[in-house]
Amino acid sequence: MALTGLEIYKLLPRTNCKDCGQPTCLAFAMQLAAGKASLDACPHASDQAREALSAAASPPIALITIGVGDNAVQVGNETVLFRHEKRFEHPTAIAVSVDDTLPPTALAARVEAINNLVFERVGQTCRVDLVAIRNRSGEVNTFRNAVRVTAAATSRPLVLMSYDAACLAAGLEIAGQKRPLIWAATPENHQEVVPLAARYGVPLVVRAEGLETLATLAAAIGGAGHKELLLDTGTRDVAGLLADQTHIRRLAVQKRFRPFGYPTFCHIAGDDPVENVLDAAVGIAKYVAVLVIDTVDPADLLALVTWRLNIYTDPQRPVAVEPKLYAIGNPGPDAPVFVTTNFSLTYFCVAGDVEAARVPAYILAVDTDGTSVLTAWAAGKLTPEKITDALASAGVAEVVRHRRLIIPGSVAVLSGKLAELSGWEVLVGPRESSGIPAYLKEHWRP
Ligand code: SF4
Repeated sequence: MALTGLEIYKLLPRTNCKDCGQPTCLAFAMQLAAGKASLDACPHASDQAREALSAAASPPIALITIGVGDNAVQVGNETVLFRHEKRFEHPTAIAVSVDDTLPPTALAARVEAINNLVFERVGQTCRVDLVAIRNRSGEVNTFRNAVRVTAAATSRPLVLMSYDAACLAAGLEIAGQKRPLIWAATPENHQEVVPLAARYGVPLVVRAEGLETLATLAAAIGGAGHKELLLDTGTRDVAGLLADQTHIRRLAVQKRFRPFGYPTFCHIAGDDPVENVLDAAVGIAKYVAVLVIDTVDPADLLALVTWRLNIYTDPQRPVAVEPKLYAIGNPGPDAPVFVTTNFSLTYFCVAGDVEAARVPAYILAVDTDGTSVLTAWAAGKLTPEKITDALASAGVAEVVRHRRLIIPGSVAVLSGKLAELSGWEVLVGPRESSGIPAYLKEHWRP
């Protein structure tokens, strides 16, 4: 059970020395109780207090690492229910499955297809994170060979999926050094599977149907010392998935219910490929940490990684591009110059629509701290003064011989002052960037 702020306060030195950055020990205790501070910030806490406070000081959901090296994946460490409360720390790790029943060449080809599921979105590289090997055969040697082929064909961390401890042991003999995630310890097999996870020092999915059974099993395994756990309720219908994930997150974050203080796992494996993608999208939104899906169709994965990117962006840190002058195509001295902000999504929308217009052009991305056009205008971050400064610092006058700027239609109000300050003719473009091709066709004359 989590300690209250007052209970934590009684364990602190209560000298109000401020070395932790808080004005009083009580203020620090409140921060600690809310999971917003680390006990390490108080250099004067006694060992006894540290021990007593360890539960309060640790995040409500454990941080779990899968894999090793540059491709290792981290999940968990979450502290909030909604991202606007602070942020989500780690996006859902997406795993694509391979079956051990595939012939070696087909298996290697599928793994290669998974390796190639890499997408560029708004300047960021998004990819499938893990490869999950399903023990469909039930055969130890078949599973061992599949793990061998898969491990040789990918640098992605692996998920070894079997209920059979002997099969998992065979997979770990091959890939144990790569720190795979193993699925799953159940009420029936945990006495064989948990020692395996402990021997190889790998994270383990605990699977049980029903939240109470899952809590009991996770508490028993965690109490025995294995703390690198993920939770799988076994629910596969989307309503049940949503309910289970929400209950687990609420109990972990709001009640500090330790048996649920681990990231969650879900395998989406329905019969309808479209429904599978929709269910996976629900899982990504609420709050699956490792999600396995059985498709290598880039259209499915592009939808999911894009959705994930939107959900897990830190709302306090908009994704921004470098504020500068961008050349689209191969623009000459008569090319149009568009003004926009350095909010990544805005910039890439404008760039995409300029490309679609097939008119080489320049885009001046003004530094608005990564906010969109209207937000920046409302916050005083997209002003005639800032645009004029950006024009000068980017040297736009040196790359074009005309003196005409196209500003977003939604901030037409800036045009008069901007023309006066900059000395450039200011053209009011379309309100939405999708109107750029038509706008250029109708209005732009070099
Ligand atoms: Fe209190 Fe420790 Fe903070 Fe000093 S550093 S104010 S003793 S909590």
